Amino acid sequence: MVNYWIVGAVAIASVFWAEIIRDFYHVASHYVPPLQKLHNWHHRVFRPNLTAVSEEIYKQAHWRHDVPEAAAMMVLGLLLWVLAYFVLPAYHWGAAAGCIYTLGFLLSAIARAIGIKGADELTDITHQPGDFQTIPGNWFVNKPYHWKHHFDNQNAYYCGTFTLIDKLMGTALSLKGKTVAVTGASGTLGRLLLKHLHKAGAKVIALSSGNEEITLNVGGENLPVKTVTWHAGEEADLALFLEKIDILVINHGINVQGERTGEAIANSYEINTFSAWRLMELFFLTVRTNENIACKEVWINTSEAEVIPAVSPLYELSKRALGDLVTLRRLDAPCIVRKLILGPFKSNLNPIGIMSPDWVAQQIVKQAKADVRNIIVTINPLTFIIFPVKEFFVSLYFQIFSRKAISEIKAAATSEKSSVEAKIN
Ligand SMILES: [Zn+2]
Ligand SMILES: [Zn+2]
Repeated sequence: MVNYWIVGAVAIASVFWAEIIRDFYHVASHYVPPLQKLHNWHHRVFRPNLTAVSEEIYKQAHWRHDVPEAAAMMVLGLLLWVLAYFVLPAYHWGAAAGCIYTLGFLLSAIARAIGIKGADELTDITHQPGDFQTIPGNWFVNKPYHWKHHFDNQNAYYCGTFTLIDKLMGTALSLKGKTVAVTGASGTLGRLLLKHLHKAGAKVIALSSGNEEITLNVGGENLPVKTVTWHAGEEADLALFLEKIDILVINHGINVQGERTGEAIANSYEINTFSAWRLMELFFLTVRTNENIACKEVWINTSEAEVIPAVSPLYELSKRALGDLVTLRRLDAPCIVRKLILGPFKSNLNPIGIMSPDWVAQQIVKQAKADVRNIIVTINPLTFIIFPVKEFFVSLYFQIFSRKAISEIKAAATSEKSSVEAKIN
């Protein structure tokens, strides 16, 4: 008797295989000169609003890229089928799924290449003009994700359907040329984050409560960084500044350790929770255009204290409150919001921390480039289990018992735009 589960597994694997071939063909199209020449047409055809510059170039781009790409997927898909025929003779029919799947792409690419009316609207969904309705996909390629391949960095965001290959190659987020501001920049982690972001090609700006200019030690040389002086509580003063920021890293915080006075409570919540939350809200107001939706991001250091004791009750309480507010607001966020869930690292605040802060900062940047939305860096294995489960259920609970607020954020961003324009003029 034929085991249909195995046939099904072979079928799914053959579809994945087709997608992997697609992504590698695309990567090769950016590095192998003859393919590059053909693929350039795909990049020539679209304007930033995704309208085609001409119908003729649109058709030619399909003959030169989409059709050969689907043909390569087909040839290697048939090869997989032949392999399955010898290795798994009873189940080789499963591999036909990948070929049928590819045939759909081959025929639709030909339909677009010969200019059949309506073929592009129906089959070319990542290149349709119009406002972006969602943020870039995490596991699946959507329009904002693919837009970044055309207009953010052509040497990143290669994937066509699943984002897996970009995640593995570290090309699911390009930091090259992005303006990144980091709060808490005079602290140990803040400085090292600036260093590793700079190394990844970002233009970094330090936000610090101190008056002195922050310098980074890169390759034995001292590099001065543009430093903006700012204090927690003065978030509104940064509104105009945030307009020009691509990625805001909210990293400032205090740790009152064992204190439990009224003042300690007020300070912990004011700085760790409300100051960070207000900055995130202000940043959301700067997200208005398709480009903003695709490229702007907020990263928030909510810490491992969200789920694990940090031997500092008020630190835990205020960070958990922040973590929950981020989870709640992330449901409607107009741009990507990442959480940084960090275990104990050695710093001025925590001299007995175990992890090297340099390694922690390096890991944060590495995971961000793989588009990890909840970046966990810790030595505690429990966090890797508890945090995702907690985040999933809290998010689900908030989704069920609160109402959508996307339109409220959009309206606020539009009215903020006119006040920003008034301030500039
Ligand atoms: Zn494209
Ligand atoms: Zn390309």
